[in-house]
Formats: sequence, C-alpha cells, structure tokens
Amino acid sequence: MASRVVKGGPALTEYLNAAKSAEPLFGDLQKHVLEKALKPSGRRQDVLHPSEMVKPDWCHLAAFHRLRLEQEPAERKKTNFTRENIFQEGHQTHAKWQRWLAEMGRLAGDWLCHFCGTEFWAETTPDRCTDCSAPAECIEYREVPLNAHPLRIGGKADGYSPHDNALIEIKTLGLGSLRYERPEFLERYMVETDTFGKLPDLTRLWRDFRRPLPSAVRQTQLYMYLGVHFEDLDIDRTVFFYDFKSTQETKSFTATYDESYSEPLIDAAQAIVDCIAADTAPFCNVNGRAGCTSCLEFKETR
Ligand SMILES: [Zn+2]
Ligand SMILES: [Zn+2]
Repeated sequence: MASRVVKGGPALTEYLNAAKSAEPLFGDLQKHVLEKALKPSGRRQDVLHPSEMVKPDWCHLAAFHRLRLEQEPAERKKTNFTRENIFQEGHQTHAKWQRWLAEMGRLAGDWLCHFCGTEFWAETTPDRCTDCSAPAECIEYREVPLNAHPLRIGGKADGYSPHDNALIEIKTLGLGSLRYERPEFLERYMVETDTFGKLPDLTRLWRDFRRPLPSAVRQTQLYMYLGVHFEDLDIDRTVFFYDFKSTQETKSFTATYDESYSEPLIDAAQAIVDCIAADTAPFCNVNGRAGCTSCLEFKETR
C-alpha cells in the first residue's frame, strides 16, 4: 500500500480535514492532490525566482540563505485543495492559449520530445523532433526559459512570439485566484445585498479591469530584461491574455518594455551573488537589524 505519511506543517490540518470528508472517494482524492503538492517541486532551488524578486517584501538576506541552503520558498509549503485546484485550472488555461498560438505558428520556445527526451528550441511549432524525428504528437511545449546565470536568476515566460517581438503572459482571473492574490482589489467590488449579504459584483469588476495587475507587470518587466540581456531575444513588449473564469470572457493588454523597472532588482541580485562569493550575509532590506519574517525563519533553524 502506498505510504500516506504527510509531514507536519501548515498543510497538515488541511490534510486531516480532507480525511474527514463524508464521501471516501472525495476524501482520498483531496489527500492525493495534497500529497502531490507537498512533494518536492522539481523546480530549481539554487536560483532566484522572478516571482519572489518582484514582491515588495523580497528580503535579500532570506534570498542569500535560501540560495546557500538550496531551500524551496516557504510559499510552497502553504497550500490547500482549493488553492491546488486554482493552480491546475491555471495550467489548463495556459495550455489552451499556447495551443492556439502554436496552431498559428506564432509560438516559439523550448519543446520536449517525449519519445527521446530531447529538449530543443524552435521558433515555430516543430512538425518532428530535431533529434529522433518523432512526430509532432510526441512533442510538448515547454515555454520560454529566461536565465541569467551570472546573477543566479532563473525564470520562465508563458510564451514568445518572434513575429510580434513579444513575450506572452497568460492569466486566469477568477474569484478564487483574486481571493488569494488580490483580496484588496476584490474587496472594492463587494456589495451589500438584501437577501444574501455581501457579494462580489463580478460584472463591474470585469468591466473595470483595464490593466494587468501591478505585480504581473513588474514580473514581466523582469522577464523582458532577462530575455533581452541574457537570452538574446528580440522583445519590445509583453502581451497579456486574461481569461475570466466566471463568464469565459477575455481581455488582452500590452506592457511596453522599460528597463527602469528591473534595474534595482538586477543590482540587488548582483549584490546577493557578491555576498555569497564573499561568504558575508547582506543586511535585511525589509526590516533592518531586527530582521523580517522571511529572514528570521533562517535565524531560528541555524
Ligand atoms: Zn525525439
Ligand atoms: Zn529580512
């Protein structure tokens, strides 16, 4: 029988709640999904991830420790079934838009041949594997690697269209994802109803949604910087596709490349790499000598 041991931590309560579900199959399914989520991600741990770098509370000292210990960001250990369901929905949405772009011949990036295991770059959808000539059915799109090796930054964009000089970002907008990622934005659209209490006015929310979320813009600006300076890609903008889960309506936005967004982050990454080379810890840039929640976590475990 498969091992059912899940290590303690924030996800344990959620796991135990799943076990209490009235329908055993549903309970088992939730446990299965949470076990999968808590397994090591396979994501490279010895690099700085653009998604963490663009957060306003990105702590350079915590990043320094994490790089040295090759630990996963704490973020990953906190999950529950709804959150995993949101992630999966996001993956499906990515696959749908990427397939449309690939059919148009407007999707470049890394492609993986499942037959021989080779990963190769192609500017348009390959009709066979460059290595073993396996047919297109064996080939899966693996997105756009964006790495700055000297700065130990590693990321991935959702797509790249050389024809448009554009990176592609695909976003799923739904009540669930907004609750996690932008609770303050959602709060603005809560209305008091006579019968049902407070409810979100989703029609108005979608109508007023006129630009990508600021965190998404910061992240894609960093992606564009990495693409231009370290991957030799021709990029002058990012095209966002937003897929609204409630109605299946969509919107597209454009962010023009502007290096000034990323320069401070690039400088910070250089400083962290220099500190690692010199074996000297940097100061916590979030809360000075006292330290912040991210870097204090490392203090306790050392
Ligand atoms: Zn192959
Ligand atoms: Zn800190």
